[in-house]
Amino acid sequence: MFSSCLSIEVADRMIENALGTFELPLGVAVNFLINEKDYLIPMATEESSVVAAASNAAKIARGKGGFKTECSKPLMIGQIQILNVEDIAGAAQKIMEHKKEILRLANAQDKILVDLGGGAKDLEVRILNSPIGKMIVVHLIVDVRDAMGANAVNTMCEALAPSLEEVTDGKVRLKILSNLADKRIFKAKAIFDKETMGGEHVVDAFLESYILATIDPYRAATHNKGIMNGIDALIIATGNDFRAIEAGAHAYASRNGSYSSLTTYYKDENGNLVGEIELPLAVGIVGGAANMHPKAKLCRKILGIKTAQELAEVVASLGLAQNFAAVFALSTVGIQKGHMSLHAKNIAVMAGAEGKEIDKLAEQMVKENKIKLDRAKEILEKMRKTR
Ligand code: NAD
Repeated sequence: MFSSCLSIEVADRMIENALGTFELPLGVAVNFLINEKDYLIPMATEESSVVAAASNAAKIARGKGGFKTECSKPLMIGQIQILNVEDIAGAAQKIMEHKKEILRLANAQDKILVDLGGGAKDLEVRILNSPIGKMIVVHLIVDVRDAMGANAVNTMCEALAPSLEEVTDGKVRLKILSNLADKRIFKAKAIFDKETMGGEHVVDAFLESYILATIDPYRAATHNKGIMNGIDALIIATGNDFRAIEAGAHAYASRNGSYSSLTTYYKDENGNLVGEIELPLAVGIVGGAANMHPKAKLCRKILGIKTAQELAEVVASLGLAQNFAAVFALSTVGIQKGHMSLHAKNIAVMAGAEGKEIDKLAEQMVKENKIKLDRAKEILEKMRKTR
């Protein structure tokens, strides 16, 4: 077991008014075979059943070769908003005419990134209508290599403001990266064997359950939350920005105009279930907390990953596994069965059970199918009286 290792001194450098640190359970998901490599996946989460569910899904996927992934380049988008432009179309054209100098100026802000083969690569100019009039929004496309990239991109965007004002004769307002990182897309795919799942009728039941997430945002929100149960746990364990990942994922889930599922499922020609996930993943192995948090470094070691791309490939596979596990349980026994034995232990602790009492009390509640605090207190009282 690992004990706490984020010191108050480091915490105090990370945020303001630090009072201490906040612990979460750190588990490890097993059975993951991704692009023919075995992984142990560290997961920081307070939710029971999540680690076991991911491991079970990975075991089923393993039978058909595990997870296969695809990805685009680590391109992030920085936005620069330009207001008060009189000749919008003319200004947009001028920006593109000055593209080379603008990219050169952006790259002058981050020599390290450029030396690594990254840096500002392209510009896109958008003209948007708004209640306060037309505006130009410049997208600076930056290859951030192994970083999440927010600081790198924000620094570049801020540095470009005076030049863009000069070129457009306008006023720059916002200059910040977009968390809708839709040029940094990761895909993972796995086949889940129909026999291991319980037969083709179970695959059919799975698909009937899944389809609701494709047509109904009420279900899609919960479906995607199940994906993020896995993704956030690994994102947190590796010191990455889970708010950025969440924002990107949910914005991407709405890309076709209505909020929908981040995963797709269908049957292959043999009746097995094929699962796919596609989402933006702005993760880093340098910068941010990734290098400051000692446990994040340890988790990267457990994973055995060498690049941000490899980390994101594992993240995407874990998201798919987590989602498969949830929909599989929902379309068969329901999630409460698996959930409840661990939940019962939490209730037992809440009722005041200690040491060996916890398992005994949880077992009794599961047996009675009554996992409730008032019943836990009654059983505990009885247990203690008869001891
Ligand atoms: P960073 O600035 O700490 O590190 C990135 C820098 O590390 C690069 O600019 C580069 O100079 C250097 N570097 C060294 N080796 C590198 C390599 N192999 N690949 C890439 N760069 C390398 O961090 P960042 O990734 O630019 O920013 C991440 C942080 O920004 C996170 O803590 C995040 O929470 C925070 N943040 C997020 C948002 C947002 O999501 N909207 C906004 C502001 C800040």
